[in-house]
Parts: sequence; C-alpha cells; structure tokens
Amino acid sequence: MSHDKVESLRKQLDEINLQLLELINKRATIVQELGGEKSKQGVNKFDPERERQMLNLIVENNKGPFKDDAIRHLFKQIFKASLDLQKDDGKKVLLVSRKKQAEDTVLTIKGVEFGGKAPILIAGPCSVESYEQVRAVAENHVKQGLRVLRGGAYKPRTSPYDFQGLGVEGLEILKRIGEEFNLVTISEIVTPADLELATQYIDVIQIGARNMQNFELLKAAGRLNHPILLKRGLSATIEEFIYAAEYILSEGNQQVMLCERGIRTYEKATRNTLDISAVPILKQETHLPVFVDVTHSTGRRDLLLPTSKAGLAVGSDGIMVEVHPDPDVALSDAKQQLDIPSFNKYLEELIASGLYKSEQLISR
Ligand code: PEP
Ligand code: MN
Repeated sequence: MSHDKVESLRKQLDEINLQLLELINKRATIVQELGGEKSKQGVNKFDPERERQMLNLIVENNKGPFKDDAIRHLFKQIFKASLDLQKDDGKKVLLVSRKKQAEDTVLTIKGVEFGGKAPILIAGPCSVESYEQVRAVAENHVKQGLRVLRGGAYKPRTSPYDFQGLGVEGLEILKRIGEEFNLVTISEIVTPADLELATQYIDVIQIGARNMQNFELLKAAGRLNHPILLKRGLSATIEEFIYAAEYILSEGNQQVMLCERGIRTYEKATRNTLDISAVPILKQETHLPVFVDVTHSTGRRDLLLPTSKAGLAVGSDGIMVEVHPDPDVALSDAKQQLDIPSFNKYLEELIASGLYKSEQLISR
C-alpha cells in the first residue's frame, strides 16, 4: 500500500470519527430533551422495553462486518452514557457542598470563631461527673486562655451497665460553669426529645458517632437554631458523613460543624483508626468547619500530640481532646484522658509546633 493510500484512508477515518462524534452528541441532546419531557410527565427515564426495541432494530439492520454481539455491546455503551448524562443533570447540589457555597462557614459563638482563621481547641472531660470536677478543668482553661469546654452529660456507652451520664444535672453544671468562666460549652444529646431543652443549657449540641445516622435526631437538630457538632460514625464513609450533615442543613439549620473521630478498622494498635485524609476531603467538599477528635480516634495518651499536629497540618479547624482532673478515677475513658499538668504540657508543645496559633488565647 502506498504512503498516499494510507494517508487517504486515515483522513477518511478522521472524518468518520468526527461524524460519529457529532451524531452521538446529537443523539445525547435528543435523549436529554426526551428525559425532560418524561420528568414533566412523571415517568421513569429508563425504559427497558424501549431499549430492547432500539437494539432489535439496530441488529436487524446490521450488514457487518461487525457481528451482532459487537454492535449490541457498542450501542449499549452509547445508551448507558446517555442515561448517565441525565443522572448528572438531575444530581442535586448538596447544601453542605462547596459548589453551593464557596466560602467557609464560620460560626461565632460567645465571641469564639469556629472555622475562622485560628484553630480552636475543644477540651474537657469525657463525662461531666460533678461541679467540682468540671470547675477544675474550667479554671485551668481560663489560666491557659482556652475558651471551649466539652463534657458529656448523656453518655452513649457500649455497655448498659457503664456510667450513663448525669443527664440534665450535667447540663446544669455546664451551664453554670459556662457562665462563670465565659466558656463555650459542648455536650452530646442522644434523643430528639432532649434537644430543645439542651439549647437552654449548652452552646453547642454534639451528635455523637453512634448517632450519626439517627435520622430523626438529625432532622430534629436541623429544626433548631443552635450550633451542632456532628461526629463521624464508627463505620461511616465520608459520603455518608456528608449526607448526615446534609440532613441537618436540609431542615434549615446551617450552624453545623464536623468532627472526624476515627473509624473502625482491623488495626488494634489504636482504639480507632484516625482517617486523617478525611479532613482535607471534607474541607474540599464542604464549606463546614472540620475538627479532629484525637482522644476517641487514638485512645492513647502518647498519640494525642502527634495526631493533633497532624490534624492541624492537614487543615482542620481545631482539635478535640479530653482532660480530667483525675483520669484514674474517671467514670468513662479513664485510660486516655489527660490530667491537667499533662494537658498543659501538651498545649505548650502544640503551641511550640507553630501549628496552633494563640490568637484564640485570651489571657496569654
Ligand atoms: C464523646 O465525644 O464524648 C464521644 C462519645 O465521642 P464519639 O461519639 O466520637 O465516640
Ligand atoms: Mn470520651
């Protein structure tokens, strides 16, 4: 075959490719138009009977050299791509998504910016056990210039025989201390019936890992006008986590923050596996503040500092860590809470790392 002949055949192929391109795109436009009509009429876009008719007509008219099977395969791909195109069209942009809101959501609570320029440390005991216990932590917060205090009043425990929390009495302690020390308080609520009441006691309502897909709780939290900190479920994918946050926003409450707290894997060296890459993914995909809970993810005191640094280095808006005046006698998570001197050392080292800016520290 002469060089000229090859060139001429190649030219013909290029032309046919372009014609095919134009035709399949023209076909796609008609499919989209048809999809629009079907939506208006409320009928399903995928019609297997119609697909079968189209394939039969094509195969009946097939003169080769392609075999019928090959033709069927090729056209099925074209049908599928056209159908997928319609799915993309209809995909709802989530309220939590960066596509919906390009700028970061910043929540200002008692003058503290969550998701703002400076990272925040959310620290406090696992459980609220007594006024004196929480007060000891709060006094240290003020000395260290911290503004955000956590403490569980309702504890969703693995065993029903473990300490379940002080309930409303715990919320009362948090309210009293929050007011006395001008601290932002965060506590978990586990049932929709307690949400409304909780807004009178605490500044941020936490929805814990075990309730991340408690959709009735999420919807009820969505009907509040109160900040919510939503933790990732133990076995939840990032997509499921994002949809859980969407439940809250879809009901009207836009004051939502996310918290990566480790997921369950086969690894036993840590209590859970901290999914550090979830942080930049959540920051990219959503406009919500993202925190990293280093206590429940690692379950190890020796890992609190390095994982806090990691969390801040990958762009989290802050860290959650547990501190207790006397962890040995704590009613929950005794093993991994820091005592106050160790907490202060941890804080000092975190500041020295340069990752935790002291802008939020009011009395330094
Ligand atoms: C907590 O923060 O007190 C807690 C129980 O955490 P998680 O829901 O992440 O297990
Ligand atoms: Mn705990």
